[in-house]
Parts: sequence; structure tokens; C-alpha cells
Amino acid sequence: MKNFEELGLVPPILKALLDAGYENPTPVQEGTIEWAIEGHDVLGCAQTGTGKTAAFTLPILNRIADQKEKGIKALILAPTRELAMQIANSLRDYSKYMRVHHAVVYGGVSAYEQIRTLRRGVDVLVATPGRLLDLYDQGHINLSKVQFLVLDEADRMLDMGFIHDIKHVVSLTPENRQTLFFSATMPADVRKLAMGILRDPKQLDIAPTQATAERIEQEMIMVRRDRKRSMLAHWLTEHEEGQILLFTKTKRGADRVEEDLREAGFHAVAIHGDKSQGARTRALNDFKRNKSRILVATDVASRGIDVDQLPYVINFDMPENAETYVHRIGRTGRAGATGKAISFCCEDDRDILREIEKHIKMTLNKNTDHPFVLTPEQLSMMEEQPGRGGSSQNKGRSGGRGKFGKGGFKSGGFKSGGNSSPRNGDKKKSSSTFSQSGERNKSGGNSRGPAKFFKGSAKSKNA
Ligand code: AMP
Repeated sequence: MKNFEELGLVPPILKALLDAGYENPTPVQEGTIEWAIEGHDVLGCAQTGTGKTAAFTLPILNRIADQKEKGIKALILAPTRELAMQIANSLRDYSKYMRVHHAVVYGGVSAYEQIRTLRRGVDVLVATPGRLLDLYDQGHINLSKVQFLVLDEADRMLDMGFIHDIKHVVSLTPENRQTLFFSATMPADVRKLAMGILRDPKQLDIAPTQATAERIEQEMIMVRRDRKRSMLAHWLTEHEEGQILLFTKTKRGADRVEEDLREAGFHAVAIHGDKSQGARTRALNDFKRNKSRILVATDVASRGIDVDQLPYVINFDMPENAETYVHRIGRTGRAGATGKAISFCCEDDRDILREIEKHIKMTLNKNTDHPFVLTPEQLSMMEEQPGRGGSSQNKGRSGGRGKFGKGGFKSGGFKSGGNSSPRNGDKKKSSSTFSQSGERNKSGGNSRGPAKFFKGSAKSKNA
């Protein structure tokens, strides 16, 4: 393995990397930096957490270190404001001993300050596609001097409908530019876009899935859909320390969880696309400074969240697909740190559970040792192979433990159907608080109506 010096980086960059505490390049850095310095285009399949930001910013800084000519020499496109800001922060850190001016432009805020910065002269511009084109159309941006074009999280940009904007931006840059193209996943549409933009690229696939998954402790909490909130409250009282990034499927879901957590006395903030830029930045900064313990986010809003040593990721809602799962859990255990990912897996999440296990080539640990566990029938259904004709065959089959393979169910398993009462084995705090949560229990028992959940835990947390 080569070190940063051997990759050909100039002294001011090496000094900044020393300050940042980076000892050796990560695999994506080793590959990309060397190729980029040699002048190759790069197609990198790498996700956040692999060190890809430095992989593309360092060779850019290296190249422009001695250039005196004015003008935008590198353009970095990113899907979201958060990611754009994150990249700009990295640029600031890595170029601290150089005279390089960078700027970041993104939508959702007034363009006034961005235009003022652009007027002062910029060497490296980080931008989301929409705002970039707006400012270009207004004559504030000249892309004719661009030597480096970077597309970061290209898959996400396509998901967000930026394909035409991207093609347009590319057409505005000089043909002899060098292009670095990164995507966490490489489905056909992304590859097609890449091949239309890149020239004879060097390719790099940092198979993050297995590596990420192996580094992170993962647990599937087998929980009834209508008891997820109680489960969260329960989990939070058992884990009183450590920051949490919690994922919901929808913006509304994020707001609801945030509200409930706050009512229960937890320091939680939600970020998603409907929040103002100011609110998102504040939320993110508060989280980074550890002023809030829980950040509730949707997948899109979570892009670019980079918090060192985040101990927990909770999938309150299961992700849409296995790749998103890997993305999400990659937010914990970053840059060598260990982390834990907890997912609430409900009765109708069987297919996604299978897809995830297949994707990461691991059988995940299934926790059934809690008060809100799926019924035995539901657990049996979770085990069934798809296309085996529904659940009726297995109805009433008891147990099922171990059927998931090595990961299997955690000890404790399920004991009785419908199990609505807390298990004796629950640690620390009596779980009886949670049975007061008011969430309706399908299988009889506790049905106190839709009172606000978390009440039980609120008490214990606020105490
Ligand atoms: P990224 O994948 O670019 O979002 O980076 C993930 C995290 O890894 C960030 O917190 C970086 O500061 C950190 N990082 C990047 N490169 C290195 C390195 N070579 N050594 C240690 N940490 C790094």
C-alpha cells in the first residue's frame, strides 16, 4: 500500500492530512488519487464512509496548487445541499495551507451571498445542479476553464431527477476536462450516463457492502408494525448513551417521530426536504456538536451527514432496498470506528429482509427478546420461502427459532402468541412502563386506545 506522499501529493496537502489525523489512504483514495494525478478519468463505485471525498478533492487540489490563472478549475456536482456543504468543508480542511478559493452553491436559500462569493473569484466550485444552472443562466458562472469535473453520488442525482441538468452541465464544460464519477451503486442507467461522460475511465469498485456490514454490528428487531413506537421508547430507555441517526421512510413519518420523541423528553430533530435550509443546517450542526442526541432523517436528507463515530443507526422503517440499507448503516462505524445498526423489522418486511441478507451475504441476528415481538404466526411467515403458497401451511407452527440460519433468533425467542406483556427477562427498567404506551395490540391484551405513545418512557427519561 502506498502512503499519501508516495501517491504524489504536495507538501501543503500532506501537512493538512497530518492535521486531519489521516495516516494512510483508504482503498478508494489509493486508487483514485494515483489515477487522477496521472490524468485518467475515474469511475468509482464507492459510498459515503469510504473516504471518497478526499479521493476526488485531493488530486484536484494537487493539480491546481501552483496554478495562478483565475477561473473555476474544478466543478464538483453533488445531489444535496448537505453533501455539497460537506464536500466544501473537506476542501476547506485539505486546502488550509494553500491559496485556493472554493465556493459552494445550492438551492433553497437566497443566491445573494453565493453570487458575492463567486464574484470574488473561485478555483473550486461545489454545486447542486439546479442552482448551478440558475446562476450560470444569469451569467454568474463561467465554466470554460474547468479542468476537473466531479460527479458525486451520481445514482442519487439520477434518483432525484437531475439527469437532464447533469447532461446540460457536462455540455457546458470543456471537452478536454478530466472527469471523476462516483456512485454508491451502479445500475444500468448510472453506468450509461457515466459512459457518455467519461473517456476510457479507470474503474474502481470498493465493494463496500460486505466490508461495511462486517464492521458494523447489526440487529433486526422483530417487532409488530403497530408497536414500533413503543419499541423505540423501550430501546431508548435501555440505551441511554450515544447519538443516534434514525431513518424513517417518509417526511411525515420523520416529523411524527421527532414530535413524539420531543414530547417524551428526548433531544431529537428531524431533517428532510420540506424543512428550510436554515432549519436543516441548524439541525445538522446541533447534532454534530452533540447538542441533540437523535437526528431523524429521510434517506435523501441524510446524504452528506458525516458525523465521526456515530454509535447508532436505527432503521425505524426498513429501507426501500438493500443498497439503501448498506448506505444507512454505513453512517455508523465510520473510518474504522465500530458502530451498531438496529432495524425494526415488521410482519410485512420479509422480502426486504431477505434481499438485505442476500446482498450483504450475511444472516442477520433477529432479536425477539422484547415485549413487542411479532406473534409466532408472523415469525413463521417471516421464515417462509417466497412463493410457497402463503402462511396457512405454517400457521400454528411453534418456534421457528434458528430457521433464519446462523444469525438466528436471539435467545429468549417468543413464548406465547400475541405476547403483549413485557418479558421478565427485560433488563434495567421494568418494561411495564411500555405496556402503557397506548399502542393498540392486535392480539388482544392492552388496548388503551391511541393515547400518545412514549409516555412511559418519557417519565423514566425525564426523571
Ligand atoms: P467520506 O467517505 O469522504 O464521507 O469520508 C468518511 C470519513 O472518513 C470522514 O469523516 C473523513 O474525514 C474520514 N477519512 C477520509 N479519509 C481518511 C483517511 N485516509 N484516514 C482516516 N480517516 C479518513
